[in-house]
Amino acid sequence: MTSVLLVAIVIGIGILAATFWSVRFIATGPPPEPDLEDILDVDVPYVCTVCGLSLTVTEAHGGEIPSPRHCREDMLRA
Ligand SMILES: [Zn+2]
Repeated sequence: MTSVLLVAIVIGIGILAATFWSVRFIATGPPPEPDLEDILDVDVPYVCTVCGLSLTVTEAHGGEIPSPRHCREDMLRA
């Protein structure tokens, strides 16, 4: 009987955590739109090491470009 109660408590805590995360995610809202004047023309090729897909980033929002992800892995610069 105590194991059933323990499982119920764990499930309840999980539901509460998911609810708080959802409310926080909704309350935060989407990130602000990037300033179009800060977008730079770049030419950075990437390749997926899992499936071989390649793509080229042609515009970026200043500074360092974070690697895009494909097949759940960070793509590498070609
Ligand atoms: Zn891939």
